[in-house]
This record gives sequence, C-alpha cells and structure tokens, in this order.
Amino acid sequence: MNILIMGPAGAGKGTMSSHICAAFTVPHISTGDMLRENVAEGTKLGLQAKAYMEGGHLVPDEVINGMVEERLAKDDCAGGYLLDGFPRTLVQAQELTKIGERTGRPVQVVLVLNVERKILEDRITGRRICPKCGAIYHVRNHPTKKEGICDVCGSSLVQRKDDTLEKLDARMEEYERLTKPVIDYYRNMGLVYEIDASKNQDVTFEQVKKVLSDLA
Ligand code: AMP
Repeated sequence: MNILIMGPAGAGKGTMSSHICAAFTVPHISTGDMLRENVAEGTKLGLQAKAYMEGGHLVPDEVINGMVEERLAKDDCAGGYLLDGFPRTLVQAQELTKIGERTGRPVQVVLVLNVERKILEDRITGRRICPKCGAIYHVRNHPTKKEGICDVCGSSLVQRKDDTLEKLDARMEEYERLTKPVIDYYRNMGLVYEIDASKNQDVTFEQVKKVLSDLA
C-alpha cells in the first residue's frame, strides 16, 4: 500500500512510521531524515537545505521534489511505501500526484495524526534522538535506560536544533498555512483518515492498524 502520514511536528509521525513499516513491510521514506543525512554529509542539497531547517522553515519545493521522485522510483517501493514529511505544500502535493503517475505508484491512503498544541509542546521539547540509528526518545515519557545514551546502539543522544518552543511556533504557523490545504486536497480525493494521536503510541497504532487492515 502507498501510504502518506501527516500531522504537525510532535504528532508522533516518526514513531507511528516505525510501527507501520514493521507491521506492513513497507519502506519508511522521511524527507526530514533524508535532508538531515544530506546536511550531515555536506552534500550540495544539504548545504541548500541547512539554514531553512535550522530556522524551522520549509526547504524550497524545487530542492525537495526531485529528491522524493528519485526515492519513490527505487525498487524497494514497488510493493508500497510510507511517505513521512512530504508533501507539506500544495505545490508538493500536486507534484506528488504527477510523480505517482510517472512511477505508477500513486498515494492510496493519507493518515492524519491530530494532537492538541499543549501536548505537542511537551513532546517536542522533551524529544531526544539518536543521530546514529534514528531511535526516538522522550526525557519523561520514553527515557533511555542510561541518561543521554541510546538503548539501541549506545550513541550519545541529541536534541534537534528545531525542537524548541520558539521553532515550534514557526513550524506550527507553516503547518496551518501551508500543510492544512494539502490535507484538504487529499480529503477531496477521499483518501484522508483522521487519527486521534493524543494518547500513547499503542492506542494510536490500534487506530492506524484498523484503517490499514480494512483497506488491505
Ligand atoms: P521533519 O523531520 O519532517 O520535521 O523535517 C525537518 C525539517 O526538514 C523541516 O522543518 C523542514 O525544514 C525540512 N523538511 C522536511 N520535509 C520537508 C518538505 N516536504 N518540504 C520542505 N521542507 C521539508
């Protein structure tokens, strides 16, 4: 199945994605992760994206669209994919429709994770990630066994530069202004399923599993 997962920063897209990919054996394609890898490796694309990302702003469409098409055309997406973090603007959504036509891999279902602002603030400011294996933790809700050290690979955890209250304001503003119209775009196509993602991850995944199993 070709799945999109959407929701504001801190809604739990990354965590839900790892559950979905394990249960439905599809590759996880996160544009945020791909961009962070490019920044870490100092590629041309990474250099173009860095300042936008650190400011909590969207990277320009022309930087990101080609990166997504290249990725969706790869062999491992033949049996489906889970796209996370793209599209975030109407222009990207329209481009993704064209990419779907060109690759024969159109979006089939859009999961929208809904969480109220206060909960997002807590999740964002407490989030810590492993820069090596990508594991996601939270200082209170999902702490590591040894403080600051990844349980999976033993690396030192980091806080993303954009995981602050101030940057959350910018990210939320862009979400409301640019990404909400994307949800409407897919709602008009009859592809949207709303998920209440304000409780713990097990409760959220139960809802997701039901939607995807019913469609399979
Ligand atoms: P994420 O990990 O999905 O929160 O993405 C982190 C950052 O990467 C965002 O705040 C943007 O700066 C950038 N980014 C990721 N996906 C996109 C996209 N589809 N369009 C523009 N910028 C993006």
